[in-house]
Amino acid sequence: MSNLKSREIRLKSRPASRPAGMPHEGNFELVQNEVAPPGPGEVLVRNIWMSVDPYMRGRMTDTPSYIAPFKLGETLEAEAIGRIIKSNTPELQPGDFVGSMLGFRELFSAPPSALEKIEPAEGVPIQAYLGPLGRAGLTAYVGLIKIGEMKPGETVFVSGAAGAVGSIACQIAKIHGCTVIGSAGSERKCAWLTEVGGIDRAINYKTVQDLTKAVRQAAPDGIDVYFENVGGAHLIAALANMNVKGRLAICGMISRYNGVTSDTPVPNIIMVLRKSLKMQGFLVGESWDLLPQFRTQMVAWARAGKMRWTETVVEGLENAPGAFLGLFSGENLGKMLVKIGPDDA
Ligand code: NAP
Repeated sequence: MSNLKSREIRLKSRPASRPAGMPHEGNFELVQNEVAPPGPGEVLVRNIWMSVDPYMRGRMTDTPSYIAPFKLGETLEAEAIGRIIKSNTPELQPGDFVGSMLGFRELFSAPPSALEKIEPAEGVPIQAYLGPLGRAGLTAYVGLIKIGEMKPGETVFVSGAAGAVGSIACQIAKIHGCTVIGSAGSERKCAWLTEVGGIDRAINYKTVQDLTKAVRQAAPDGIDVYFENVGGAHLIAALANMNVKGRLAICGMISRYNGVTSDTPVPNIIMVLRKSLKMQGFLVGESWDLLPQFRTQMVAWARAGKMRWTETVVEGLENAPGAFLGLFSGENLGKMLVKIGPDDA
């Protein structure tokens, strides 16, 4: 088998593309390359779906974090799902679906140790394993149950509520008998949250004058659990409205990711003390062992009509940078995905 033509996305190395502030399309380049056939014990994979995620913004900069920076001039990484097209190992067969961190490329050869075989539950589209049945869904679950210690009957406030993580968090909280308030950046997103997601009240944070007041009106008895996806004004509004002994599960702070400084002024942080609040950051990777049981639970909820999800699909590997950038302007409702190739084997 000779080398195969493929395409991949890189961070430009000339000039060095580590953006300060909001990144742009010019930070990325689409490159034609050749993929060597799979060696002994390896498989050849053709990617079908790819995830773009806010944390990738952190990987564009060269500052110490929980995950290594992207290397300039090398293929970027992202979660992806593809199909085996040639196998040199009995562990995987042509046609099998596999997950990997080897997105941002069309084809690749790899050993089975770099892959997770995915056998989709009946009736569940394979791309759900990059969103509600994958990292985003598990993040919502862990944040509410393990970190937020959510109990039935409590009031839960979710920021970034119409995104991949937030939309699932809202529904998990409803399933657990909570009153749920969500905030999102458009009327369309707010309508989805109340009409499809079934939450109690949705706040369009882009149109309210005073977010703290809007949260107070939406949750007059206060908030017991805050699921933080956004940071900044949302955190301030949540702190102002937390009940005594409330919990803040700090999942993300997307409003800060493009900041040129890392300082986040939160003038009412003293509320953590005054109200005996518990505020804890977390990374979903620390709870990855819960993924199988979580997936079983999510499929059961979906089949019972208690869990709905949606996705925003951008077609073509060449448009992956645009899909990623769109996360910062709120272009996605539900999980933002890139369709790299056809589903068939
Ligand atoms: P997402 O919510 O599907 O997409 C990002 C959304 O953030 C956008 O659609 C936009 O929605 C909102 N947004 C962007 N810039 C904003 C700003 N300046 N102010 C307010 N909202 C803004 O993304 P996701 O994958 O579900 O991630 C959500 C959060 O969870 C992120 O902070 C991410 O870093 C975090 N996360 C953490 C973990 C973990 O292990 N801790 C794992 C996964 C994700 P609007 O239209 O509503 O503005």
